[in-house]
Amino acid sequence: MLGMREEKMPELRQDIITGNWVVIAKERAMRPSDFSVQSVCATEDLQNCPFCPGNEPMTPLELYAVRPKGSPPNSSDWEVRVIPNKYPAFIESEMFSSSKYNLPKRDSRGLHEVILHSPEHCLDIATLPREKVELVLRVYRIRYYSAGLDPEVKYVHIIVNHGMESGASLEHSHSQLFGMPFVPPLVQQELAGSSWHMKSRGNCIFCDLISLEMEEKERIVLQSDSFLAIAPFASRFPFEVWILPRIHRESFADATDEELEELSSVLKEVLRRYSEGFKNPPYNYFIHSAPTDGSDNSYYHWHIELFPRLTRLGAFELGTQMMINTTTPEVAASYLRGQVLQ
Ligand SMILES: [Zn+2]
Ligand SMILES: [Zn+2]
Ligand SMILES: [Zn+2]
Repeated sequence: MLGMREEKMPELRQDIITGNWVVIAKERAMRPSDFSVQSVCATEDLQNCPFCPGNEPMTPLELYAVRPKGSPPNSSDWEVRVIPNKYPAFIESEMFSSSKYNLPKRDSRGLHEVILHSPEHCLDIATLPREKVELVLRVYRIRYYSAGLDPEVKYVHIIVNHGMESGASLEHSHSQLFGMPFVPPLVQQELAGSSWHMKSRGNCIFCDLISLEMEEKERIVLQSDSFLAIAPFASRFPFEVWILPRIHRESFADATDEELEELSSVLKEVLRRYSEGFKNPPYNYFIHSAPTDGSDNSYYHWHIELFPRLTRLGAFELGTQMMINTTTPEVAASYLRGQVLQ
């Protein structure tokens, strides 16, 4: 009896990297069928999509594109296209800022780019052919590297919001790159945790995490020669997945061509499983990588974090920055491996 109660009791779990705690609400034990989400991308009318080919004049001038030889910039025969965000969170030019009450405020300088995955409006990373996903990842690396060279940019953040529910404001499948003038708080927490672990244990915390997960196996979603996808022990959201390079590298910019090729399969496969499990749900992913501020971050280990958007944040989460997760990562991993538990 006691055993059963313990089994179903909520559990507090700590992320070993950030030190943040989450509540794993085991008693709810939510399975994929318990979540109802709206399928992403149902638009028929593509006339007004500024990201569809033919509508290039509706966007700012492109920064970079993969296109056939001889094809002029901003013409419609591109494969992957990078443009400045029309409503940027960070801008290159100087802004005036002041505050009557001396509230902390600074110029939001940096970069904000949009990376269009393909001319196809609805094809996302899960549904694009693998070679096209590889092309997108190569463009990520090019833009990441170039953003990092900007002296104003201290951190490069690459993200995907897939579907309106995930925060996307335009439906056409795209990524965004933010060149930020500071290192964001979550990355600072990860850097602090990694640095402490390196000093106290002499090892990379992510490399240690990979060894531990390879040993325990139950949170592994899939693995390839160079990458491991896991449902992290202290998952903040149901079916959260991290993709970690198995070779220690601090920065996404250091990923080799071979690694990007392999990553295109792994990333696509994780998202395909989300898509099958939840019928094309909204999702987010982002890349966490070493800052580009010139500091020595050799103890850090880049990775991708992915989340299907199945739940909404409530006042508990907003007020405490602590998540309540209703699906244990062990159940999530088991499901995502293709073994649906009873
Ligand atoms: Zn479109
Ligand atoms: Zn490492
Ligand atoms: Zn991270």
